[in-house]
Amino acid sequence: MSSRLNSVEVKRRNRINVFSGLLDTSHATKPELAAQLRLSIPTVGVICDELVREGLVREAGMQPSGGGRPAMAYEPCLDRFNALGIDITRNHIYLALTDLKGKLIAGERQRFLFEDTPKYIRELSEKVRSFLFQNHKKSDQILGAGISVAGIVSLQQDRVLYSHVLNVGEETILNSLTASDLGVCAVKFFNDATAGCMAECYSHHAPDSFVFVSLSNSVGGATVINNRILPGKSGRGGELGHMLIVPDGRKCYCGKCGHYDPYGSALLLTGKADGSMQAFFDGLRDGDEEKTGVFDEYLHYLAMMIHNLHITTDLPVVLGGYVGSYLKPYLPKIRELVSEMNIFEEDEEFIFSCEYNVEASAVGAASYFTKTFIESL
Ligand SMILES: [Zn+2]
Repeated sequence: MSSRLNSVEVKRRNRINVFSGLLDTSHATKPELAAQLRLSIPTVGVICDELVREGLVREAGMQPSGGGRPAMAYEPCLDRFNALGIDITRNHIYLALTDLKGKLIAGERQRFLFEDTPKYIRELSEKVRSFLFQNHKKSDQILGAGISVAGIVSLQQDRVLYSHVLNVGEETILNSLTASDLGVCAVKFFNDATAGCMAECYSHHAPDSFVFVSLSNSVGGATVINNRILPGKSGRGGELGHMLIVPDGRKCYCGKCGHYDPYGSALLLTGKADGSMQAFFDGLRDGDEEKTGVFDEYLHYLAMMIHNLHITTDLPVVLGGYVGSYLKPYLPKIRELVSEMNIFEEDEEFIFSCEYNVEASAVGAASYFTKTFIESL
């Protein structure tokens, strides 16, 4: 019995590996996949044919193979199923539709003020349904909707427990939102920083293990070890905004003093540019004195945070959130500031900026469903 179970499990693993192999390479022949995955050609052949019948893989034309006869190449049907991501902030929503590779195929940011009322849920549902309709997606094609909020969510990711930004607790109307309201198969909630980090993990540019700092209107973060986010014992891992960095310093939104949030919030920058991050960085580039002063101070505290995180974990640090995507040109300066604090000689760069922009949290929340789908193949 156990050997039969094992063979079922081995076959399941092989299916996942063949499909993931095709996702990674975009297209490949059966012999190429067999060599890459160290499986026999007949094993790959059977699985590939199965996946073709299920509509997950299709033929992609004959391809010359090294010395032998031309062989048929196969490619994944990336649009066979999609996932939806919804990032809910106080004044906006971002709707993201991703393919099976986790890539953003349609995204839309809308001004939509959050209110904790049934009307909000009704209007959100209408917006989601019309977004799917505009993008020609039927509900049975959508694996699920990942909802990102700046706040704490339950370990099972089925409830929002608290959000300072949205000013809600566990009785929030968001917890009454059902999959059928949105016309999808399932709904899960994610902390916005965790979701942003999930998007980075999916981007293939990120290292296997790193600390993610989410520099948005509130600051958060996550630690990734071997491509898995550490949830912590209660799901509250990575609340970097409440790390104490300036004893008796500025008051944090949580009520306590000296936490990193009032030194790292994106609002410090957008507050100097009519709410626009782009305008802030444009002004900075043009040498605006006030913005330069604010940014120098911002980088000073950011460097302290990066130093503390790196000295604790010895891991690379990825800067994300609304600010993170603008920091690429300033990485040399940030690295210099951090190296002045560092006590070790580093062989390699360990500070990076994120790949994603405002869409990060929505894309990351959606990625949960594509990953889960592939794992269940
Ligand atoms: Zn705090």
